[in-house]
Amino acid sequence: MASGNKDAGADLVNKLISDFYRTASDLAPDRMAEREFGVGNFEVKISQRHMSFRNELELKEYLCSNAVPYVSASSAYYRFPSGRPMEKKGWLGSELVFDLDVTDMELPCQLRHGKSWVCSSCLEEVRKETIKLVYDFLVPDFGFSEKEIAVNFSGNRGYHVHVKNGDVLMLDAAARKEITGYISGIGIDFERLFPTAGRRGEKLVGPSTKDKGWKGKIAKNFLSNLNAGVDSLMRMGVDKPIATKLYRSKSLVQMGIDNGNWDMVYIKNKGEFWKRIVEGQAVSQSDRIDRNVTNDPGHLIRLPNSIHGGTGLIARRLGAPRELYRFNPMKEAIAFRKGFVKIKAGTKYPLEMAEQRFGPYAGEIKVPTYVGVYLYLRGLASIINFI
Ligand SMILES: [Zn+2]
Repeated sequence: MASGNKDAGADLVNKLISDFYRTASDLAPDRMAEREFGVGNFEVKISQRHMSFRNELELKEYLCSNAVPYVSASSAYYRFPSGRPMEKKGWLGSELVFDLDVTDMELPCQLRHGKSWVCSSCLEEVRKETIKLVYDFLVPDFGFSEKEIAVNFSGNRGYHVHVKNGDVLMLDAAARKEITGYISGIGIDFERLFPTAGRRGEKLVGPSTKDKGWKGKIAKNFLSNLNAGVDSLMRMGVDKPIATKLYRSKSLVQMGIDNGNWDMVYIKNKGEFWKRIVEGQAVSQSDRIDRNVTNDPGHLIRLPNSIHGGTGLIARRLGAPRELYRFNPMKEAIAFRKGFVKIKAGTKYPLEMAEQRFGPYAGEIKVPTYVGVYLYLRGLASIINFI
């Protein structure tokens, strides 16, 4: 934290959060009275749980009068949501929830700015990853309709995807784990996908774009990266010389893979090469998807359209999953649009918000409230006063 009057920042943020909830709308999740709620403070995201609210007004009054920086709700529905311990709640089913976060991705930009900063390229990559989850897996492979899928920005570094299909509600932890296993590509058998891979001198035969399930997915995903260019191939783990070679012959490579022939360009140790690429194709959030939210039917996750206390942004719910194709959180999830603040900041990278660039800063500067609050909550500025 830069030097300055820290209390001015805390006072301002509390007031802004309170004002936000006084007039907030669209806060009530479906079947609200059957959900468990948890709230947190600036130190702990969930400091109190087993709470329940009967309606939106009751929730808004609580969040407004306590200026709550983090509020979460269960992906589960319960007969007695405030009952404790958990067994007394009377579980009625749970949405299937995915939490995609840029912290779990290995991105070239992160090598420059580290994992504590989030740049526009980070947000782009995690948005694409979410599109991949919805449109490469949930819709085509599991048959969920877009109406059964709700997507919201997490308020910080990623997206949350809630599936509300009747069939998934009663799935237990083991069944949820199978779904995440499939999406994460656990159990992809390379030798079965590429039967000639180990045989010297034989043509490398593999999946074609016409195949269904994982096979077709592998072929299509590789080709879409090939068409996107050398950088995109390198992000898949292809070395630059090979990426350049593949890209130069891309029509030939495309024609081959469309028909299951992966041998159109000479690559040394081709079997090993393709194995590494194929295994990297699962949703790259697999560790995260696997280790927490999705498999635990009792998990609490940020309430859509609530404030994220680490950024001052809104965990904005998208009107439909399709909006992912054009959603810009640093524009559409801004909460505190009124006025300006004077801050003392020390930032290394420019911040892009509302389609403008702010900074880098060293010293005192007047900025829009949402910029000042974002930097303050990230620990990169102190707030001197509200103008
Ligand atoms: Zn980045």
